[in-house]
Amino acid sequence: SEIASQRPSRIVVDLDAIGHNLQAIRARVGVPVMGIVKANAYGHGLVPVARHLQAQGVDQLGVAFVEEGIALRRAGITTPILVLGGIFGPQVAQFLEHDLEITVSSLDKLRQVEATAEAMGRKASIHLKIDTGMERVGVHSYSAGPFIEAAAASCWCTLKGIYSHLACADDPGSPMTGLQLERFFEGCAHFERIGAPMPLRHLANSGGVLHFPDTWLDIVRPGIVLYGVLPDPASQATIAMRPALSLVSRVVFFKVVNAGNPVSYGATWQPAVDTRIVTVPVGYGDGYPRALSSRGQVLLHGQTHPLVGRVCMDQFMVDIGPQGSAYNEDEVVLIGRQGDAGISTEALAKRAGTIPYEILTGLNERIPREYI
Ligand code: PLP
Repeated sequence: SEIASQRPSRIVVDLDAIGHNLQAIRARVGVPVMGIVKANAYGHGLVPVARHLQAQGVDQLGVAFVEEGIALRRAGITTPILVLGGIFGPQVAQFLEHDLEITVSSLDKLRQVEATAEAMGRKASIHLKIDTGMERVGVHSYSAGPFIEAAAASCWCTLKGIYSHLACADDPGSPMTGLQLERFFEGCAHFERIGAPMPLRHLANSGGVLHFPDTWLDIVRPGIVLYGVLPDPASQATIAMRPALSLVSRVVFFKVVNAGNPVSYGATWQPAVDTRIVTVPVGYGDGYPRALSSRGQVLLHGQTHPLVGRVCMDQFMVDIGPQGSAYNEDEVVLIGRQGDAGISTEALAKRAGTIPYEILTGLNERIPREYI
């Protein structure tokens, strides 16, 4: 809105970077790509990101919840959409009404989907979810036979895919991925046993795309690398990615704080010498983690400065040093680049004691997003 656009803080999303990352992933894996846009496209904005991915020819989109899929359909997105989450019975009709592909994770759920499809006189497009080691949703690979037989014989379901989710693929050294791949093939073998056509097999999240070519199969499901961010510090940047998101604000207050005078709630930090402090109008109410209290950093005039004292709901303070110079409205970068310096989402997550996913998805609607 016009009012929000005047807020000094904003998230700047570089859609070209997302397009570049999609093409880089494609070039590496050589199979179709399902772009994962759940949780507001990892904080980048669900609809603008999905529109851009569609324009860039993404093969499929993936969301977590049916509501996210409906929002995309209402925005005119026509690309096939798979809802990855476990289904909640009363919502099944919504999948069919909005042409959303359903993750079916048990025989009971298959029956539920079939009953709704029959009642509506409309076939459901489904992907079977096999649990190969995540213990979240899905039929265990070792007991998938009857499930696959029932799905292959279903009159009211079109079986489009079979998939599983990798628990440790962000770590290139983990033996878990090989084990999960083996179990997945064990599940898929039931199609051959009963002579039914094999649907699309998919397994690779970002970690799989980066580190495990054997998991690429028929389509890959990258999320975080589409946004140019690595899933884990142990991950290797085997794709030349560009981070798409910056978080910027402006100085709204400047002052000198005398030695010994504590700053912010709880009076947890005080300067050893008289110093200059600026206030930045972003806080945990925007999704900027409170765990960054006296641990965060920002860029001002291309230099790194420490965040001091506790992060408040709407503001935090930065020590620019006894000789520091800053004026109201000077740009402050919280994530992204300024001059030759940069603060990555990965680095910020490490300082906050969390993972980049939580930083990105935590940035909420209160901060306006701008697309370049
Ligand atoms: N596939 C499934 C089933 C998921 O739940 C997720 C996200 O957690 C992804 C793919 C994408 O994961 P990533 O962002 O690590 O690529």
